[in-house]
Amino acid sequence: MAKSAEEVHPVKSFGWAARDHSGILSPFSFSRRATGAEDVRFKVLYCGICHTDLHRIKNDWGGSNYPLLPGHEVVGVVTEVGSKVQKFKIGDKVGVGCLVGACHSCDNCANDLENYCPKRVPTYNGTYHDGTTTYGGYSDHMVTNEHFVVRIPENIPLDAAAPLLCAGITTYSPLIYFELGKPGMHVGVVGLGGLGHVGVKFAKALGAKVTLISTSPNKKKEAIEHLGADSFLVSQDSDQMQAAMGTMDGILDTVSAVHPLLPLIGLLKSHGKLIMLGAPDKPLELPVFPLLMGRKLVAGSFTGGLKEAQEMIDFAAKHNITADIEVIPMDYVNTAMERLTKSDVKYRFVIDVANTLKAI
Ligand code: NAP
Ligand code: ZN
Ligand code: ZN
Repeated sequence: MAKSAEEVHPVKSFGWAARDHSGILSPFSFSRRATGAEDVRFKVLYCGICHTDLHRIKNDWGGSNYPLLPGHEVVGVVTEVGSKVQKFKIGDKVGVGCLVGACHSCDNCANDLENYCPKRVPTYNGTYHDGTTTYGGYSDHMVTNEHFVVRIPENIPLDAAAPLLCAGITTYSPLIYFELGKPGMHVGVVGLGGLGHVGVKFAKALGAKVTLISTSPNKKKEAIEHLGADSFLVSQDSDQMQAAMGTMDGILDTVSAVHPLLPLIGLLKSHGKLIMLGAPDKPLELPVFPLLMGRKLVAGSFTGGLKEAQEMIDFAAKHNITADIEVIPMDYVNTAMERLTKSDVKYRFVIDVANTLKAI
């Protein structure tokens, strides 16, 4: 006989969810599954607010199912482990990023690229293997198969580590794969937000020269003096952009909205690579001639696999890379979303879930 919802998901949980595409979040009660043999249950301590959360609660891309409980930059402390769990024990500091499931049998899974598995299960707004909806980290606790859990190194502050689970791996992975994160490379990072600011830090730590390309002239001083960028271009300043034409080996484009690609392609050297990371809600215009004339490449990249996520966070701990964060209480989340819409955050909101999420 089929199991009832209570049997499949007997453990009460609560968090904040959006109920419709207004995107307004409010307290929400639900339940999570019992700890399976390979599961790790953890109390959520902090959760970053990724711009994807904002796209999703507003249904920018279509496909949002409500109630939608976001959060895929989650860190916490393990409270229970299943009988077959090998990597974690109670009390360990752990993180969960964008994925909580995959098929484990396709070519991508075989190559530690669960992020490109056609059957990957997103951390929220997804359907888990048991047919139930996945709910993210704006909640009191989570239960996740240990394969999708990352160990947070001891020396890294948990609140500032949370954004590495998405923003960190999303920028680190293409720097490695496209061979841009190394000495001798000149990398452009477009958009100084959550992804952009950790992208600068990783590219620098990997040895590249980094230029920030931004719509916000007021971010220049900090980008250079604090984040370590070597130079800064204001994308609307045509003189500055003209002077930098043909100088970059690659660009990470983290812009969340529709924007012109022609000036960015112009910044690339011949054979340069424009890597799209941002996910605007409408298609961008792709000018072809400037690609042909320099054998240039436009590509995309989506988060990273679990092996690489662990590698990334270990690298971050070794090089003292964390996110620059504004820690907020749970009930500030709707204001935070409004501010994120206006790029008014330096550079990632992180919700102090454990101390501010009130039980319903
Ligand atoms: P964010 O913190 O809001 O940063 C985006 C930055 O883009 C802003 O700070 C701003 O930087 C720039 N920007 C915003 N609107 C712009 C416009 N109209 N024209 C030009 N520049 C603009 O967002 P995020 O969390 O970094 O996420 C960025 C995008 O990446 C989102 O679309 C998100 O869904 C996507 N994402 C993709 C992946 C993936 O796996 N590929 C993972 C996570 C997120 P300046 O002020 O410096 O111009
Ligand atoms: Zn994200
Ligand atoms: Zn697979």
